[in-house]
Amino acid sequence: MKFLDEYRDPKLARRVVAEIHKRATRPWVVMEICGGQTHTLMKYGIDELLPKEVELVHGPGCPVCVTPLEIINKAVAIASMPGVTLVSYGDMLRVPGSESDLFRVKAAGGDVRIAYSPMDALRVARENPDRRVVFFAVGFETTAPANAMTVWQAKREGLRNFSLLVSHVLVPPAIRLLLGSRSNRVQGFIAPGHVCTVMGYTEYEELAAQFHVPFVVGGFEPLDLLEAILMLVKQLEEGRAEVENQYVRSVTRAGNKAARRRMFEVFEVADRKWRGIGEIPGSGYRLRPEYAAFDAEKVFGVESQEAAEPAECIAPLVLQGLAKPADCTAFGTRCTPEMPLGAPMVSSEGACAAYYLYRRHEAAATR
Ligand code: SF4
Repeated sequence: MKFLDEYRDPKLARRVVAEIHKRATRPWVVMEICGGQTHTLMKYGIDELLPKEVELVHGPGCPVCVTPLEIINKAVAIASMPGVTLVSYGDMLRVPGSESDLFRVKAAGGDVRIAYSPMDALRVARENPDRRVVFFAVGFETTAPANAMTVWQAKREGLRNFSLLVSHVLVPPAIRLLLGSRSNRVQGFIAPGHVCTVMGYTEYEELAAQFHVPFVVGGFEPLDLLEAILMLVKQLEEGRAEVENQYVRSVTRAGNKAARRRMFEVFEVADRKWRGIGEIPGSGYRLRPEYAAFDAEKVFGVESQEAAEPAECIAPLVLQGLAKPADCTAFGTRCTPEMPLGAPMVSSEGACAAYYLYRRHEAAATR
C-alpha cells in the first residue's frame, strides 16, 4: 500500500539500524513526544534494535493520558444529566475518573455515544433537537481544527442544542517545562508529525535555540522513526541543535495555515492543567467569549473540582520520560487495560498500554 509498504521495508530498516550503530559513539537519551510513535516503536521492537548508547524515553503526547481527572469528572457529571447525549472518542470512555467513568454512565442508562469524527456529534445534534448534545473535545493541536469547525458550523446553522467540553492541550509549552526541569534527561526529541502537520515547526525552532536541543519532526511508520532517530543521533554527535523534518510527505515549516485560521476564530490560548503534570501556562485552548454559548462547562454549570490521582500510579513520571511503565508496581497486575488505574493504560496512544501489548512478558521476567 502506497506510503505504508515502503516505510516498513525490512531491508531498508536494517540498513538504517546499522547506520545508527555506526554513528552513535556516546550515550544519548531521545524522547518521542507522540503516543502514536511510542506504539510503533514498541510494536516493531525498534527500541531493541538500537545500540545501547541510544535510550528511548516516552513523552507526554497521549491526549487521553494528559486529560485531567477534573475534566473526566465533569464529563461524567454532564453525561449523567437527563436529556444529555455525550459524544466522545472511544478511548475516553474507559479513562477512570474519581468515582466513575463514561462506560459506567452508559451502562447505567446514560446516552454516551462513540464517534470517529466531531462532525458525527454535530449530526446527532441536528437529528435530535430535543436532546442537549455535548462533544468531548480532547486532544492536541492535531484535533483542534476539526473540533473548532463543529462549533463554527453549529453557530452558522443556529444549532442551540450543541456544545463542546473542551480539553485541548499544546505540545511546545509542555516540552519547554520539561526542558526547564532540573530532572530532565532528554537530549533530543522526535517531534510529533501530526501536530506539526497543522502547526508547522517554527515553535520547535525557538525551543531548539533556547535549550540547545535538536528536534526531528517524525512520522509514524517504522522507517520514519528509524530515520528520525538516525537524524537525531547525527545532530547529537555533531553538537548541532536544529529542527529537521523527516516527515516531509505531511509536514511543512509553516503547517496548515487555513486550518489554523479557522481554529483561532473559535479557540484562544489559555492556561491548562495536565493530568499528572499540573497547570502549565498557555498550554491549551478554550473557546473564545463569542462562542461561550457552545461551552459545555458554562452551559451545564459544572464546577471545577480538585481530584486526587491514585497514589500507586506513576504516570506523571512516565509522561515526563523519568520512568518506564514497567517501573510501576501496579503494571500488568493491579493496572491492566481491562481494569486501568491510570489513563496511560487505557489509551491506544498510552505508553503503559504499549508496554502491556508488546513488552509485558519481558517486564514480568525482570521482576
Ligand atoms: S501501569 Fe497503570 S498505574 Fe502504573 S503508571 Fe501506568 S497507568 Fe499508572
